[in-house]
Amino acid sequence: MSDPFVVVGGDAAGLSAASKCKREDPDREVIVFERGRWVSYAHCGEPYFVKGEVERLEDLLSLSPAEIDERGIDLRREHEVTAVDTDAETVTVDGPEGTHDQAYGDLLIATGGRAVTDPIEGADLDAALPMHGLDDAAAVRAMLADPSSFDVADLGGDPYVDAERARRYGAMAPPETVAIVGGGYVGVEMAEAFVAHDVEVHLFQRGDQLVPPFGEAVADAAAETLRGHDVELHLGTEVERLEGEDGRVAGLTCTDGTTLGVEAALVGIGIRPNTDLLADTAVRLGNAGAVAVDDYGQTSVDGVYAAGDCAEMRHVVTGDTAWVPLGLTANRAGRAIGASVAGDLTPVGGIAGTAMLKAFELECGRTGIVDHEEAREAGFDPVSRTITASSRSGYYPGAAETIVSLTADRETGRLLGGTIAGEDRAAVRIDTIATALEGGLTVDELERTDLGYAPPFSPVWDPVLVAAKVLGGEI
Ligand SMILES: Cc1cc2nc3c(=O)[nH]c(=O)nc-3n(C[C@H](O)[C@H](O)[C@H](O)COP(=O)(O)OP(=O)(O)OC[C@H]3O[C@@H](n4cnc5c(N)ncnc54)[C@H](O)[C@@H]3O)c2cc1C
Repeated sequence: MSDPFVVVGGDAAGLSAASKCKREDPDREVIVFERGRWVSYAHCGEPYFVKGEVERLEDLLSLSPAEIDERGIDLRREHEVTAVDTDAETVTVDGPEGTHDQAYGDLLIATGGRAVTDPIEGADLDAALPMHGLDDAAAVRAMLADPSSFDVADLGGDPYVDAERARRYGAMAPPETVAIVGGGYVGVEMAEAFVAHDVEVHLFQRGDQLVPPFGEAVADAAAETLRGHDVELHLGTEVERLEGEDGRVAGLTCTDGTTLGVEAALVGIGIRPNTDLLADTAVRLGNAGAVAVDDYGQTSVDGVYAAGDCAEMRHVVTGDTAWVPLGLTANRAGRAIGASVAGDLTPVGGIAGTAMLKAFELECGRTGIVDHEEAREAGFDPVSRTITASSRSGYYPGAAETIVSLTADRETGRLLGGTIAGEDRAAVRIDTIATALEGGLTVDELERTDLGYAPPFSPVWDPVLVAAKVLGGEI
């Protein structure tokens, strides 16, 4: 009986698992089903492709299908898995040659997430689209190009790009005004991309704060930076529907009755895990409909694993499960599962929700639990302090203000999370705090950490140490 390792989804989590398994156990048959044409691509680079900093779509691929083939992986693009039968240990696959059942020995669900657009009426109009996939990025960049000279080959996506959709967008008159619906990190990154094309940008955010997971200090700094680049922020304003004219977006209406004329809309209001496939199976779902897994990425069914944006993980601060769809999480969990399936049992690790964001010249980072309500729900008594310190010795050229917020548990002094914003390599400093969380350090222990110092890189007291010193004084 055939016992292949079958992977559903050919991007970060799926291909990390397939590659690792094949490397560790070259004799194992590894089959990857991907419903699209693109594989091994970087969603994270999509805003920078739209902006023009990344020239070609193909630059966003980590591995080409030929390279995947060279690794001995049986990659089947344009093959959608439509059902899973965990009793028979088979998946049903729809492909160009028809529908067939494929037996598996081990199965990985790495189906990622999908952009949420349904609460916004009119999100199916032309020039209204999410940013979730290289074909969305291709469509937006095509729309921003001059229709008289647009050539789909300029996108650099041949032979994978949805050329018909790109041509349709390339034929449109470029928008002078665009609405971004949603002030999460994708919305903020896309604001920068549109401004680079001299488009007037209106960013609508339902709550009063941009990028909520990054906390108030970062949100305020990001809002100030965006306004400084002429992005019109509509905070506390919920878009209800997009209005169309001749099938294309022509405006929008908010729940408070505000209306605005725009020629395009980017809908970035979040994602949902792609787990419909498992609806009638014994595979248990957890947080936000993501697949519940153990410390090895195994689901409630033996031999069935899940990783990446479709799966939850254990949070290093709370110890509970959480769903935080991010790139490293997907790659790392996939790789660990590939090793486990090949016989080297490897934990997928925990998550702290560590994330970084660039808003024009402002660099932002966040990790752990920074929201007090969330901290209290997890049983902590949170206390936070925010400081501003220099990124380098004050006399050294290039020094810039860095804002650091740290949150700790008042009773134990344990560090719970932190955020950072600034212009001079601020974002990467979040990794110090993430490492402290992973080690379960208290604020005092963080303050005593032996960080590096030299004037071009840091003042004697790194901004993270300054923040620890100030917060430690409160506990
Ligand atoms: C615009 C944007 C910017 C981002 N920036 C960052 C960033 O800066 N940092 C960061 O950490 N993260 C970022 N992310 C998130 C990061 O890209 C994801 O966490 C990561 O791609 C998840 O990988 P995955 O393999 O789980 O899912 P995906 O990359 O979504 O891949 C899942 C694959 O499964 C396929 N699939 C789904 N269902 C089926 C099926 N039934 N049959 C066959 N195939 C199927 C899909 O077609 C898809 O190719 C960003 C995401 C977006 C959209």
